[in-house]
Amino acid sequence: MPHMWVQHGFDWLNAPLDPAIYALGTGIATPLQKIGHAEISQYIAVIAPGEASGNAASSWTLVCAPGACRVNGSPLLTGIAVLNDRDEIQFATAPRLFFSTETPAVAARYGRKDPVPCPRCTELVLEGDIAVICPTCGVAYHEGASAEDKCFTYDACVVCGRPGELSGGYKWSPAEL
Ligand SMILES: [Zn+2]
Ligand SMILES: [Zn+2]
Repeated sequence: MPHMWVQHGFDWLNAPLDPAIYALGTGIATPLQKIGHAEISQYIAVIAPGEASGNAASSWTLVCAPGACRVNGSPLLTGIAVLNDRDEIQFATAPRLFFSTETPAVAARYGRKDPVPCPRCTELVLEGDIAVICPTCGVAYHEGASAEDKCFTYDACVVCGRPGELSGGYKWSPAEL
């Protein structure tokens, strides 16, 4: 899942990006705030996903008031940019942000409300189940504690062929810059 690294003191916090619209920058309580479509004009900057294809690698677009933010150090004079992996977004007074598309294969609680069928066992992956989202194609597999729940690591991904191996945490963060 694409995510945003948010500077917090000397640390970097990781914020996964759901397919939603987020306000960024100044004038919000948190560095990333989910907003509704009708609220976009109230904020100096927003990010929104491209076509809702369910694909983990879908593109994200940044829209901000012209000149209000910098992308990789340059003022965004046009006010719009398609975000690339590791792009830095800066505001005059707000935490630094880095966009990242890195998606490690990790087992975590499935956070989406809509159940989806697991391509291995065809049973539904439900909200709260321990699951792995295939980083390559974005489909969800069960990956619970019991042997019959290890749908992702059982074999290669049935959709894209990626090896069914867990990869631990993120390999990249802005802390290494
Ligand atoms: Zn399964
Ligand atoms: Zn896959």
